[in-house]
Amino acid sequence: MNNIVMLDINFEYGNDMQTINPVLLISKNDVVLVDCGYPNFLSLLEDEIKLKGIDPNSLTKVLITHHDDDHMGALSELKEKYPNIKVVASEIDSDYISGEKKSLRLEQAEEVLKDLPEEQKQFGIEFCESLRKVKPVNIDIMVNDGDYFDWAGGCQVISTPGHMPGHISLYLKETNSIITGDAAVIENNKLVIANPQFALDIELAEKSLGKLISMNADTYYCYHGGKLVRSAENILCPIK
Ligand SMILES: [Zn+2]
Repeated sequence: MNNIVMLDINFEYGNDMQTINPVLLISKNDVVLVDCGYPNFLSLLEDEIKLKGIDPNSLTKVLITHHDDDHMGALSELKEKYPNIKVVASEIDSDYISGEKKSLRLEQAEEVLKDLPEEQKQFGIEFCESLRKVKPVNIDIMVNDGDYFDWAGGCQVISTPGHMPGHISLYLKETNSIITGDAAVIENNKLVIANPQFALDIELAEKSLGKLISMNADTYYCYHGGKLVRSAENILCPIK
């Protein structure tokens, strides 16, 4: 069985259909879910996991790449229904996921709201509201850059700050592949920075993207954009 399984969660967002791509890392002792979707996404997530032939009851861990609501919004539901699942996150982001510190995304959104033109204010207010509703969850396992696990044949934590300070990506040794989180997304068959206006530190975000590209993985699994298989054409992005 393939030990890296990308999920395709399709959903309506405003008037569009969107897709997010959590990943399952499967090994003898562990089934690790990487990121889990927006609040109220548990049933979508379970359906997609089952569709891929995997029993959601077999999940042992969920790793959160960073504390944005599209990556950890469903975490409290997941943990409530499957209390044995251990939550893994970077040491830096743990404080935000557990609610010990105020969400940096909410702070940013509140700042932006002050200067939003009148016609966008309602959207800004609703965005802040939705961030306030994200339920905090305690972290069981805190990780740092370089930490190594035997998931899916060997998995190393890569610190990729910028989008958020505690953002992490994962390097999978056996297949020379990377799970990027939001450190890289796919646009026009290239790896680029996710919504640069959301990056809390754009310079660090560019550095992290450069780091992931220079690792020359054969496959990049992006939460937004799906799977990118390296070829001569697609990987050479202009990185400063
Ligand atoms: Zn995201």
